[in-house]
Formats: sequence, structure tokens, C-alpha cells
Amino acid sequence: MPRMHRNRVKKRRSPRTWIQLGFTALFNGYAAGFAKGTIFTGATKYACVPVLNCYSCPGALGSCPIGSLQAVIGGAKHQFSFYVLGTIMLFGIVLGRLVCGFLCPFGLVQDLLHKIPVRKWRVPKRVDKPMRYLKYVVLLVMVILLPMFATNALGTAPPFFCKYICPAGTLEGGIPQLLMNEKLRALAGWLFSWKALLLLGVLLLSVKIGRPFCRYLCPLGALYSLFNRFSLVRMNLDVHKCVGCHACERTCPMQVDVTKQINSAECIRCGKCKEVCPTGAISTVVSLKNQPSVASQDARQGV
Ligand code: SF4
Ligand code: SF4
Repeated sequence: MPRMHRNRVKKRRSPRTWIQLGFTALFNGYAAGFAKGTIFTGATKYACVPVLNCYSCPGALGSCPIGSLQAVIGGAKHQFSFYVLGTIMLFGIVLGRLVCGFLCPFGLVQDLLHKIPVRKWRVPKRVDKPMRYLKYVVLLVMVILLPMFATNALGTAPPFFCKYICPAGTLEGGIPQLLMNEKLRALAGWLFSWKALLLLGVLLLSVKIGRPFCRYLCPLGALYSLFNRFSLVRMNLDVHKCVGCHACERTCPMQVDVTKQINSAECIRCGKCKEVCPTGAISTVVSLKNQPSVASQDARQGV
């Protein structure tokens, strides 16, 4: 790093963890559910929240968009819920994956575990890059195709992603329900064991790797990533201020090539790159103009 910037590296503190805690409490604000061991069934349960938040969590005040999508696709008529898709599109167009970075309770869980001070792993690019496509496969197969075609005698299908994969559901819904309900405990079999193992794997990996579930498995993250390059809220890199120290890339939990593609489909807008940049080259912008950082990249190439 050039000497003139060496003394200027001062990490700016972000209130992001508090915002994440606030949204987690807001989406799961039915405290009585935890005390009584019941699920909230009031009017707000008809609305879906913009994040992965299990319907069966005793505190959940709304529905999970991925759970709702599967419920409608797997229903007797096999339809798409345009209300749910519209909600995801609205949040995607405005915020992109900022939803993952600031609003998602399971994102918060992974972030808190990643704060444990142990040596971190950077996944080699040759492994990381193909693995990122897995979440699109999960979206297509577990959320859409299987609920649509793997039907039972009544012509309906279970929510395959919720049933066989979702670690957020196991943590927020499955475990609290089993702890509070003796009858359910007696029924827990191999499926719960599999899901608990999967959850444990994700939680352990989160200590070493930034957001493993969001990177590789989350079907909602896959949907939001489609909007990330042109959402209204984006990251911007001012290449005239960038000195090429790559501190941003070393700190990015999603292993984004910040100086090459700051608005990558993987960026969760967490702002960590912004916090460590010694020259203030990175900012969060709200703009209708498409990809200001790409324009900056072009300018850089012309220098
Ligand atoms: S944008 Fe990244 S590489 Fe450029 S100065 Fe900031 S931290 Fe360093
Ligand atoms: S590029 Fe910056 S804002 Fe995006 S995920 Fe990485 S650290 Fe967070």
C-alpha cells in the first residue's frame, strides 16, 4: 500500500449487526409463541416477509417466500404465486441482495458465527465458482420442479426445500418445536437427524467461511442475485480514488472481486469493503443509472 495511505486505514464502524437484530426481532416478534409452544396464526401470516424466515418458527409473524412458493406450486393446481414473486421482485429491484446482508435472520446467525476469532478459510476460486451455481440448482429442482412434478396420489407435493434442506427452518422452526412438544419429539426420525446434521455443517462452516449457506445453497439468495446488477441500491467504486491495496477483497465475506466487479451477483451489500477501504473509494449509492461502478471501470481503463 502506498505510504501516503498507510496511516489512513481506519475501520469505520457500521450499525449493520443492530439492524439485522432489529429485523430478526421484527419478523419473529410473537414472543408468546416461544412461551406457549404455539405458532402465530394471525392475519399477518398471510403476508410473506422478504427473507428466509421459517413459517413454523414460534415467533414468526409472516410467511417465508420460499415456503409459500413451494406451497402454491405443490398444490393441486400447480400454480405460481404472483404475489410472492412480485414481493421478491419488488425487494430485488430496490435493494438487490442488501436483503441478505441486512434483513435476513439466518444471515445474521452466519455473520455472528463468523465473528468467532479463529483463522478463516478463503475457498479456492476453482471450488468456489462452480459451487455458487448450486443455489440455482436448488432453486430450480427443490423449489420448482419437484413440487411441480413429484406429486402424490392426490396430485400435490411437499415443499421439498423446506422438508429436506432448509437449515434456517431447522434452527427457527424444527428445533424449537421439538423442544416444546413432546409428541413431536417422539416422531422425530431420520429426516430430522439429516436436517440437524446439515444445519450443524452450515453453522460450523460459517465460523471459517463467510456466509456458506448464502453463497452456495440459498434459493432466495439465487433469486435476489438476478437483480443485483441493476437494483436501485448498489455499491460504487471510484477508481480514481482506488490505490489497488485489495484490502476490500481480503475482507469481503462473499469473496467478491471488488475492484473488478463490485456489483457481482454475490455481493450482499454488507459494506465491509467500504469500512476497510483506506481512501474512501467505495460507497453505497441509490441510483436509477445503471452500474455506475462499471462506468468508473471504463474510465480506469482509459487512464
Ligand atoms: S477499493 Fe479496495 S483496492 Fe481500492 S483502495 Fe479501496 S480497499 Fe484498496
Ligand atoms: S463487495 Fe463489499 S458490500 Fe459486497 S459482499 Fe463484499 S464486502 Fe460486502
